[in-house]
Amino acid sequence: MGVFTGRSVFITGGSRGIGRGIAKRLADDGAKVAIIDVNEEALQEAKAYFLENNQEILAIAADVTDRTQVEVAMKEAHDAFGSIDVLVNNAGVIRDNMLFKMDDTDWETVMNVHLKGAFVASQTAQGYMVKQKYGRIINISSTSALGNRGQANYATAKAGLQGFTKTLAIELGKFGITVNAVAPGFIETDMTKATAARIGISFEDLVEGSVASIPVARSGKPEDIANAVAFFADERSSFVSGQVIYVAGGPKA
Ligand code: NAD
Repeated sequence: MGVFTGRSVFITGGSRGIGRGIAKRLADDGAKVAIIDVNEEALQEAKAYFLENNQEILAIAADVTDRTQVEVAMKEAHDAFGSIDVLVNNAGVIRDNMLFKMDDTDWETVMNVHLKGAFVASQTAQGYMVKQKYGRIINISSTSALGNRGQANYATAKAGLQGFTKTLAIELGKFGITVNAVAPGFIETDMTKATAARIGISFEDLVEGSVASIPVARSGKPEDIANAVAFFADERSSFVSGQVIYVAGGPKA
């Protein structure tokens, strides 16, 4: 028996990177896991990985910005697993640019995926969770919420997710639902690889440069974030709500 045996988890953007790491950790601890993603190739690859490990996985192609697709996917997960106990709002994109170069599409894409996506998925999940009188919602924010050059759109969305987290914690607490956020620092994933490519340096150099300012002197891995998510997702964390934990190898505000 694992900590999450009998629990079902729904993870947005769960086919790779941090989302995949969270899916793996919670599945290893016994959860039935549903992941949605727009990247169908990564979805199939993730599905094959979990099946190889004899772990129950539902991999559904769905876009978090499309309410109908999210509702259909979550219903499929609910039909298959019998509940939606944990929602992880992880799907994310970056469209970095200095303010003077950032166009409306860069702004809207980032707001839509992070903020509308989390809004739609949380609203859909609370329909199940309120009835169950149980739920755990975990939003993936970022240290960029504290401000980061070239990320006016992303920093705004990630700070917005923190206000969203605290508000849902207040509204949903009486239904046995906690809502918390994990704010990662530098984590080695395809997203940070894309950042290296955009600024024209090797990934190794980006990692080395980032590690120089990280007190624990290493970069983060998806497992580091999954560990914090597992804490919030635990039934025994029922008195922890509306919190943001920075998982960045050192103190952040
Ligand atoms: P990633 O690009 O590897 O994974 C993001 C996943 O989200 C991808 O599989 C992508 O296809 C999916 N996705 C994108 N748009 C979607 C949509 N509209 N609907 C459904 N799925 C969609 O990146 P990652 O580094 O694993 O990032 C995961 C989360 O962690 C993101 O919210 C990101 O902002 C956040 N984060 C990452 C870092 C880091 O250093 N990597 C730091 C702080 C926060």
